Amino acid sequence: MLQQVNGHNPGSDGQAREYLREDLQEFLDGEVLLYQLDDLTRVNPVTLETVLRCLQARYMADRFYTNAGCTLVALNPFKPIPQLYSPELMREYHAAPQPQKLKPHVFTVGEQTYRNVKSLIEPVNQSIVVSGESGAGKTWTSRCLMKFYAVVAASPASWETHKIAERIEQRILNSNPVMEAFGNACTLRNNNSSRFGKFIQLQLNRAQQMTGAAVQTYLLEKTRVACQASSERNFHIFYQICKGASEDERLQWHLPEGVAFSWLPNPERSLEEDCFEVTREAMLHLGIDTPTQNNIFKVLAGLLHLGNIQFAASEDEAQPCQPMDDAKCSVRTASLLLGLPEDVLLETMQIRTIRAGRQQQVFRKPCPRAECDTRRDCLAKLIYARLFDWLVSVINSSICADTDSWTTFIGLLDVYGFESFPDNSLEQLCINYANEKLQQHFVAHYLRAQQECRLNRPSSAAQLQTRIETALAGSPCLGHNKLSREPSFIVVHYAGPVRYHTAGLVEKNKDPVPPELTRLLQQSRDPLLMGLFPTNPKEKTQEEPSGQSRNPVLTVVSKFKASLEQLLQVLHSTTPHYIRCIKPNSQGQAQTFVQEEVLSQLEACGLVETIHISAAGFPIRISHQNFVERYKLLRRLRPHTSSGPHSPYPAKGLPEWCPHSEEATLEPLIQDILHTLPVLTQAAATP
Ligand code: ATP
Ligand code: MG
Repeated sequence: MLQQVNGHNPGSDGQAREYLREDLQEFLDGEVLLYQLDDLTRVNPVTLETVLRCLQARYMADRFYTNAGCTLVALNPFKPIPQLYSPELMREYHAAPQPQKLKPHVFTVGEQTYRNVKSLIEPVNQSIVVSGESGAGKTWTSRCLMKFYAVVAASPASWETHKIAERIEQRILNSNPVMEAFGNACTLRNNNSSRFGKFIQLQLNRAQQMTGAAVQTYLLEKTRVACQASSERNFHIFYQICKGASEDERLQWHLPEGVAFSWLPNPERSLEEDCFEVTREAMLHLGIDTPTQNNIFKVLAGLLHLGNIQFAASEDEAQPCQPMDDAKCSVRTASLLLGLPEDVLLETMQIRTIRAGRQQQVFRKPCPRAECDTRRDCLAKLIYARLFDWLVSVINSSICADTDSWTTFIGLLDVYGFESFPDNSLEQLCINYANEKLQQHFVAHYLRAQQECRLNRPSSAAQLQTRIETALAGSPCLGHNKLSREPSFIVVHYAGPVRYHTAGLVEKNKDPVPPELTRLLQQSRDPLLMGLFPTNPKEKTQEEPSGQSRNPVLTVVSKFKASLEQLLQVLHSTTPHYIRCIKPNSQGQAQTFVQEEVLSQLEACGLVETIHISAAGFPIRISHQNFVERYKLLRRLRPHTSSGPHSPYPAKGLPEWCPHSEEATLEPLIQDILHTLPVLTQAAATP
């Protein structure tokens, strides 16, 4: 068993504990102090074990950043360290003749990137790809980089003005609290988990001053508005308005103290008492005035009331389901707050209209209870997703520089990392696909053809029955779990195998919006909703039920894939830099390094391979004496093979896909997933 080393909680396995104690002692006493190794390419030999030990030693010595050749590894300290992120330190890295000679830091990457873009010989756009699993610190790192540029790339003129709202750097920083309020939520893995991907382009003029920025978001997890996993929460903003509203606002938004909302689970976890003010202030600085803000919050309150509408099953199928007694008042309040006619709102949830025949006759069919719920949820998702997109566009118009006022950019990418839950669906497939593509981009850029990886063989021929499943079954990186009753397929991603449930996948991919819902929202008298759902939309919304539309259906996957391809094109046109965030434990505790958890993250991002390649590119020459000393230490640390009986590392220590086999390259795996997605798209487009 691996040990959790936190000083307070010694492990139960005496032998391993002894081992670690002696080992730590050795770190402190030995001449070769692993924690002083700033670059993992200097660990020798480079193995998962030695890399892990070095990172652990550094973590225990409060050294959270380590170079790994071309990548920076950032361990989440899970504790505030203000001096590590002070403006003084930013300036120190900025002023250093050779910042790479200073201690590894996110500022080194920031400064290097800044200098590259500044190169007078050939200025080139740069990007920083921040990756890591949920809670590893991606958003924190991106925010930190934005603050860094706000200091080192501030235009001198902007510091002269006294109006904070006019400072472009400040406005760019203000986009963070707003986007996090509306797009982040408390999950099991992270109290402030980003539920969307984000690429921000920081725009620089010829004098390398930041003159603006543009944000692109990906795949907002809009289902969270109406459905939260147990122990998780809705988007922060809902709690902020409920906790932070004044008495007056409570009256206006019908949010009396103590009222329970079914879409507001776990309100007792008080994380954002003071955040509402911060959000509002930031919105104001971005040009969203108080009346518009109040309009937004009123609509959000409307959504909470919408969520309290529960339907009772109808005994007669020909009759619509009615809201339960205590939900009647929710219908009234929701319609009031959303500016909708009460009867039409209710009817839209209760009754499906079908147009059929040559004359397009309209038939009305009462929906069963479950469908009423689905339509209610769909309404909320539709409103929230449009609101989020609109917010992003408002933010963009507030921070984006005129095209002639910038020449180069630094892009920061913060997308959610590889996900593998007990139940995985389309969201995970898209996220993991994106990670696969980003890893491919990384591999293409740095590792090229040198990496090999072994793919799991499919366990047997397809048992799966639908078209998708049949199509998937022939692929070498797909398998299925014979023991599982639910139809599913397994994709062996670079980061490990993930089982996706087939149920609901195609439907989710279609993301159907009954046309009545859009028509309903077009009737709203609320100024915000009137803007979000215009009667004559310029762009036709995806509302036609399948079979009636002649245009190919734009599926979630096809849209996501297109935006991902666009992103990759941008990335390809830049010089990329990589920061791998690592979460030292899943409890979010400071001073706690759980080897097993770190190990799986190292495996997932192929860090050891990265180091090997980097080391091959930049050979280190060390003296014979140093070599012997280093080797001696490591030999004692590793008396047997990595998964041997006396090893502190479990048999699973080495990942299946580790480059020990030449069976296949990464490419077929990527190709297979690429192949998967059109099949899904196609299946969704078929009635
Ligand atoms: P997700 O994918 O869920 O959005 P993430 O990788 O963006 O996760 P963050 O929200 O950036 O994770 O980090 C999680 C938490 O870890 C932060 O809220 C913060 O408390 C802590 N944290 C991360 N990095 C640092 C750091 N460098 N110093 C102090 N605390 C940190
Ligand atoms: Mg995040």
